[in-house]
Parts: sequence; C-alpha cells; structure tokens
Amino acid sequence: MPQTWMITGANRGIGLALTMELLRRGDHVVAAARDPWGGALAELAGVHVGQLTPLELDVTSDRSVAAAKQAFDGRPIDVLVNNAGVYGPRDRQTALDMDFKAWREVFEVNVYAPLRVSQAFLPNVEAGSGRKIVTISSRMGSIGSNPSGAIAYRSSKAAVNMVMVGFGNAVRDSEVAVLLFHPGWVRTDMGGGGADIPPSESAAGLIATIDASGMRDTNSFRNWKGEEIPW
Ligand code: NDP
Repeated sequence: MPQTWMITGANRGIGLALTMELLRRGDHVVAAARDPWGGALAELAGVHVGQLTPLELDVTSDRSVAAAKQAFDGRPIDVLVNNAGVYGPRDRQTALDMDFKAWREVFEVNVYAPLRVSQAFLPNVEAGSGRKIVTISSRMGSIGSNPSGAIAYRSSKAAVNMVMVGFGNAVRDSEVAVLLFHPGWVRTDMGGGGADIPPSESAAGLIATIDASGMRDTNSFRNWKGEEIPW
C-alpha cells in the first residue's frame, strides 16, 4: 500500500535522494522546498506524474509554514521528514571565535524549524496511518563526540535532539512515533565530495529503518543502518 511522505529540503542532497527512492518504489511524496518547481524536482514531477506534490516551504518562516499548512489542510501524511538543514560558516564557529549572527541562523533552520513544521503538520500525521515524524539530526550533536570545532552546527543538532524528544513525549498518547537519525557522512553539498557514502545509500538505509520503526522506537537516536547513536 503506497504511503504519503512529506520531506523538507527535498530539492537536493539527502532530501532529494529520499524523494527519488520513495518515488521509485511507488510512494507519494510531498516535496517541500523553497523552490519546489525548479531543477531536479521539476524533472521528477514530469516522470512520476501524480506521485509528487510540490509544496513551497521556507521552514524558517512562520508565514510560509502557515501557508503550506493551509494548502495541505485535512490531507493525511504517513511520514513527515524534517530534513532541511544548514551547516553554518566553515570558519568562525569555534568556542573562541563565534559568528553569533550565523549561529542564530543555524538554530533557525536546524532547531526551531523542525518543531515549527512538526507542530503545523501534526494533524496531517495524526490523520495518516504511518504516524511517524522523523528529524535528520547528526552524530556531530552527540556530547560524547567531544567537540572542538563546528560548535554552531553541533550545538544545533544537540538542541534539536532535546526538542524532538520533548515533542515525542508530548505526542506519545496520540501514538505518533518521533525518530531521530544520523544519516551517515553523505556526499552532498554539505557533506562534501570526500564523504563516506552516496545520498542513495543513506536514503535507502533511512527508509528501510523508518519502515521497520514503530512506537517502540519513539525518541530513539539511530544511524541510517538502524544502529543506536549515543546522545
Ligand atoms: P544539503 O546542503 O545538500 O541540502 C540542504 C537542504 O536543506 C536543501 O534542500 C536546502 O534547500 C534545505 N534548506 C536549507 N535551509 C532551508 C530553509 N530555510 N527552508 C527550506 N529548506 C531549507 O544538505 P544535506 O542533504 O547533506 O543534509 C540534509 C540533512 O542531513 C541536514 O539536516 C544535515 O544537517 C543532515 N546531515 C547531513 C550529513 C552529511 O554528511 N551530508 C551528516 C549528518 C547530518 P535550498 O536548496 O533552498 O537551500
């Protein structure tokens, strides 16, 4: 039975790979992006006619999220994936030299947005049969990774883990599973060309692990292969 997945940041990187894999196996994808009608998504919409719904969404904007919510009102979503993310500046994010403005922007996308989007689309997920809300975090958010650099990015992923566990507890009674994932070190614009795995491998692993997950996994933090990651 095909499912409906909503993916934020669906236009490139891991979000696009998730979208492609889901379309390939016959699921329906609500491809949320700042520009959902251009580039790779436009091509996919032409090939997978009727399977892909473009949804304009800037996850940092209350107005954009409210408009997307209204456009999608009453339609069930089986799995919501908060994937959109930013790394922040490659320099000036150490404990001794921090670009505070950039740090705030990283928090807008990586921390506040997953909660904003999850709150907005919770009724849609409750109306679906999959009942899962996924957030793509990172093992770089593990306190045990003993950080030195990349403090803006790492702190945002540590924070979103805490936020989404709180959300998971808040929606436990409605039987919506809240799942956190490290997608691997993936060859995307963010991960860089020297990363470990291609986006297709990350996407296939994430989808298989999400498919096999349920309420027993709520508030877990795992990698794309389903292995637990320390907080
Ligand atoms: P990319 O940089 O390749 O893609 C980022 C995506 O996020 C783009 O689609 C981008 O859209 C979107 N995005 C950024 N800001 C916004 C916004 N305000 N509103 C809507 N969409 C936005 O990153 P990856 O695919 O590599 O990363 C995806 C997720 O995986 C992120 O959360 C990242 O932190 C996480 N991750 C990635 C790892 C890796 O090795 N690649 C490792 C660990 C975690 P646009 O094109 O409009 O900018």
